[in-house]
Amino acid sequence: MYPSKVEVTEVGTRDGFQYEKTFIPTIQKIQVINELVAAGIRRIEATSFVSPRAVPQMADAAEVMAGIERVPGLKIACLIPNHQGAARAIAAGADEIVAICSASQSHNQANLNRSTEKSIEGFGVIVEAATKANVTVHSALAVAFGCPFEGDVSPEHVSDLVGHIYRAGIKNVTLGDTTGMATPQIVEKVVKTLQDTHPDVSYALHFHNTRAIGLVNVMAGLACGISKYESSIGGLGGCPFAPGASGNICTEDLVYLLAESTIETGIDLSRLIECSKHLQQIVGRELPGQVMKAGPRLKLHDFEASNRATG
Ligand code: ZN
Repeated sequence: MYPSKVEVTEVGTRDGFQYEKTFIPTIQKIQVINELVAAGIRRIEATSFVSPRAVPQMADAAEVMAGIERVPGLKIACLIPNHQGAARAIAAGADEIVAICSASQSHNQANLNRSTEKSIEGFGVIVEAATKANVTVHSALAVAFGCPFEGDVSPEHVSDLVGHIYRAGIKNVTLGDTTGMATPQIVEKVVKTLQDTHPDVSYALHFHNTRAIGLVNVMAGLACGISKYESSIGGLGGCPFAPGASGNICTEDLVYLLAESTIETGIDLSRLIECSKHLQQIVGRELPGQVMKAGPRLKLHDFEASNRATG
């Protein structure tokens, strides 16, 4: 029923770092990315080429790109809001660019200051420039499982948008649960609708753990046969509408779940945990990831020396 292999995309240095108030030195961003690569992650959304005024944390995007140690099979993706961003990402050596738009008008207006139609219209020029440079274009559809301004987003509406995106020449679509509104039932409805209406599109799922059911949503996605998931090391990140809320689903928790479900990822959990602990030092606080605290389930404890408790 479940796919035998899953591709995990790390988004922490983009989706996570963008919420960090203090500027993280470029060298530390690069270290985290290189540690993730060393742990076996082969697709990383490393940074975004957005306005440095809007997101000061991403002002060093080109320098971060230049510091990544490339290994065979590694795909470095960059998020871009428009064709100017695409040109900068391509010049910086992105293997893939991720063109964003939202599944609801209000979120698109708030985030990108234009209508959803205008955003998707702009994808044509982006695809043209990327194709010339041999760069793959993905599209990330934000708030695909619910919008913080409009509430439920109908699967039919998501399907219409995916149709427009596909006709713009983009065959990879990530469905984003930007503010953690997805539930297993909604995931199943949206994914099955899309698999029926646009079976040629390759889908990835991007969940946030805002309401503590991020990994349950992954299980719903796996049951639909989806084999691409996005997550953030340590569970770094947040939600723009809920101060203090959890961020993306946590990469090491996801990798643990997949490994224990006999699904191959090619990722070394213990190296990932080391990277997550290093990241806690960088951001100077405890991160929500749970497996890094408890360790793998077969990390056994000395019976005699243990402090026991019931319950
Ligand atoms: Zn996100």
